Amino acid sequence: MALPVVAIVGRPNVGKSSLFNAIAGEMISIVEPTAGVTRDRISAIIERNERFFELIDTGGYGIVDSDQLKSHIENQIQQAIHSADLVIFVVDIRDGLVPLDEQVAQMLRKNNLNVILVANKADEAPMFPRAGEFAKLGFGNALCVSATNNLNKQLLVEKVNEFLKDRSKERP
Ligand code: GDP
Ligand code: MG
Repeated sequence: MALPVVAIVGRPNVGKSSLFNAIAGEMISIVEPTAGVTRDRISAIIERNERFFELIDTGGYGIVDSDQLKSHIENQIQQAIHSADLVIFVVDIRDGLVPLDEQVAQMLRKNNLNVILVANKADEAPMFPRAGEFAKLGFGNALCVSATNNLNKQLLVEKVNEFLKDRSKERP
């Protein structure tokens, strides 16, 4: 049976590849300080409590110029539509909510994708309240995580598994 697929989506530089690496447990993706520097489509099989899913870093479309932002995001959404049971939508708690996040949210909603909203770069708990504004995106409260500090990484994997478990019950 095919594994459920979970796609990481979000505007450049929010930490998609870093989060992917943190969850996958090794440095597979290319992570650079420059926005959109990840080059390859990357996937890994993730296991927790004998549950498995395939995690995809969809941001791997080469260097993103500001004029390519829209197609960069559209590519990610297309990939998610074609392959993913669930999307991890990543925003950046340090930048706060920006218009491009709203555009990503709109595209995800338009395509009826299942979304877990994650506020990355929440390296310390005192930053967590800043995530409140992301509820405006319409996917509930964001789960605060830090790819760098491995904060709430396991909780995120548990949330993913819970979602996939509930979904599999719904299937005939
Ligand atoms: P992507 O373009 O969304 O794949 O983002 P990257 O994973 O390439 O990360 C972009 C930048 O954000 C890099 O400089 C990372 O080191 C930094 N970054 C990623 N995750 C975190 C985090 O949890 N905390 C902090 N402080 N920086 C992070
Ligand atoms: Mg990347």
